[in-house]
Amino acid sequence: MVWKRYYFTMSKAAEMSARSVAELVIQLGRIAHGCGYAEGLTPAQWSALRYLSRANRFSRTVSAFAEFHATTRGTASQTVKGLVARGYLSRTRSRHDGRSARLEVTDDARAILPHDPCEALVRAAGALPESGRGRLATGLERLLGHLVQGRGERPFGVCTSCAHLEVERCGPEGSPRFGCGFFGELLEETELGQICINFQPGKDSAMKRDFSGKLAP
Ligand code: SF4
Repeated sequence: MVWKRYYFTMSKAAEMSARSVAELVIQLGRIAHGCGYAEGLTPAQWSALRYLSRANRFSRTVSAFAEFHATTRGTASQTVKGLVARGYLSRTRSRHDGRSARLEVTDDARAILPHDPCEALVRAAGALPESGRGRLATGLERLLGHLVQGRGERPFGVCTSCAHLEVERCGPEGSPRFGCGFFGELLEETELGQICINFQPGKDSAMKRDFSGKLAP
């Protein structure tokens, strides 16, 4: 009887805890979306600028943004069209897929990115202790992974936690050289922390990287 009551209390606590986490995530998302109007741009346009300024060269396309933003290609295309018209994005022909155009964030867009309304959220995250930030990032990453998997979608991620990342030591001092096994191309170290549509979970997740995308020792 005592065991039964103990088990009930524990499962109730676990359920409450999971619900609390879900409600906090919803509340954060609501606040982040609600404060998304600035510089005359909509939350969707800010989302596009934010994504395209962090996406790697293989992922800066309308369809990749549509997938990332969980929207249709048509809606994503309208969002991008508005940004191109305002001079915040430019289109170039993709080297990897001749049918699609690669999108580049322009200097004008980089000038307004510091006014991103989500910077308040970045500052709030920055106020957390570094170890707490790492744990939170790992937990949120797993939460997102479960949700994305449940919806049958592909997860987005960065090279440092991707199964396709190849690292070899070269040169007299054994400095690392990075490559992508999926695209068969060399990667600059600065690209390792950029978001990729072809990410394949497989390495040790966010714990192996810091927030600038550098490999942890
Ligand atoms: S290593 Fe993975 S995340 Fe990096 S470019 Fe290749 S597929 Fe994308």
